[in-house]
Amino acid sequence: MKRYEVTRGCTFCATCIYECPVEAIAMGLEGARIDQEACIACGVCRENCASEAIVEIEFDAKRQKTEPTEERKQP
Ligand code: SF4
Ligand code: SF4
Repeated sequence: MKRYEVTRGCTFCATCIYECPVEAIAMGLEGARIDQEACIACGVCRENCASEAIVEIEFDAKRQKTEPTEERKQP
């Protein structure tokens, strides 16, 4: 599953906020912030960020939910 995140390279230009089709981005004190619940992972924000401050990352929802100690409990 793809996810998009804003890095520290954000220059507060706000372009991504206007370009996002689902209004999933808001400006915070440290730059633009993506609401991961609202984001549909279209990539438009990354394509339009002149500072290349938005990155695409792989997000494995299953792995995040799995307890790393679960396997060790097996006899
Ligand atoms: S387009 Fe890029 S630089 Fe501009 S506010 Fe969004 S993340 Fe920051
Ligand atoms: S990937 Fe698309 S939906 Fe998600 S924050 Fe960027 S522009 Fe908005």
